[in-house]
Amino acid sequence: MDTPDPSAGSDRGPAARRRPALSVVVPCFDEEDSLGELHRRVATACDAAVGGNWELVLINDGSRDRTWALMTALAAGDGRVVAVDLSRNHGHQLALSAGLALARGERVLVLDADLQDPPELVGDMMAAMDAGADVVYGQRRRREGETLFKRASAAAFYRMLNRLVDVDIPRDTGDFRLMSRRVVDALVAMPESHRYVRGLVSWLGFRQVALPYDRQERYAGATKYPLRRMMAFAIDAVTSFSTVPLRVASILGLGCAALSMLLLIYALLAWAGGDTIPGWTSVIGVVLLLGSIQLVVAGIMGEYLGRLYLESKRRPLFVVREVVGGGPEPSRPSNGAESEPEPAREAAP
Ligand code: UDP
Ligand code: MG
Repeated sequence: MDTPDPSAGSDRGPAARRRPALSVVVPCFDEEDSLGELHRRVATACDAAVGGNWELVLINDGSRDRTWALMTALAAGDGRVVAVDLSRNHGHQLALSAGLALARGERVLVLDADLQDPPELVGDMMAAMDAGADVVYGQRRRREGETLFKRASAAAFYRMLNRLVDVDIPRDTGDFRLMSRRVVDALVAMPESHRYVRGLVSWLGFRQVALPYDRQERYAGATKYPLRRMMAFAIDAVTSFSTVPLRVASILGLGCAALSMLLLIYALLAWAGGDTIPGWTSVIGVVLLLGSIQLVVAGIMGEYLGRLYLESKRRPLFVVREVVGGGPEPSRPSNGAESEPEPAREAAP
């Protein structure tokens, strides 16, 4: 349970470098047409914000085009570019998680490769963080160049999500955000494998502020989120933060049991009044009783399953923002989870 000296970079070896002030993490899937422009704009924006003291972590998420070749060329030409090749397409959220695990910066900016989220906002985001925020997330005022269906489905999705989940996940917000080192460390320490990263960031808490911006059109290429992936993304989001769908069984079960009782009373009264054909009352009675018992039992199992599911995520019980006083204690864990040593860049995330 040894926390390494936070001022040292996670590079091993004698020439352990200091952390850069800023890491920019970009997951890329078939983005060959955007990479050059992305590098140019990120370099200009970061130079303006922190001088040369930044790194650009590009994650190749199993692209089928020339993305990886371009990434390695960029890394060869610019020492601040780190190119990471995943073994196959793991999906946006896992590619992003890999980038967060490998980023070394004091602050980490998450960006899409398609330049829909302007890197030029990094200056404003840094300023908001200087003023005390731990997370500065971009909130979309307008979305340019996206279909009506995409905008409508996104709006409906974020509103539904907010009703279903307990954590307050900001609306109209993607993964475009600047995070402090302690937020990134806590995020990387979360072991769950179905990762809805923006939800996890909200779950962590800390001081989060919004920065409104207009979302641009894609610089090049087409969206990597067809309807099928958007559905899977939405299901991950809901099930990661809510067991409400499981509770449906309980609610249905109790509702049906109550209705069955009323129906049973009616059947008994009808039988007592003598206006039923023989056998009807006993059959209906058995059907109603067994049916409602089954539903109630399914509901009980759903409740336990929900708790089991939440436990199985092994999220930290609490996350500490800071500890003041108490003398020097270098190995104080930073959150409720076992604090793990910082991942070295060479290690698999
Ligand atoms: N992406 C990825 N892996 C995937 C799908 C997407 O790394 O399997 C990246 C993609 O290259 C982009 C970001 O995730 O940098 C967001 O994807 P996209 O712009 O297609 O989503 P949209 O903006 O249309 O919602
Ligand atoms: Mg996009």
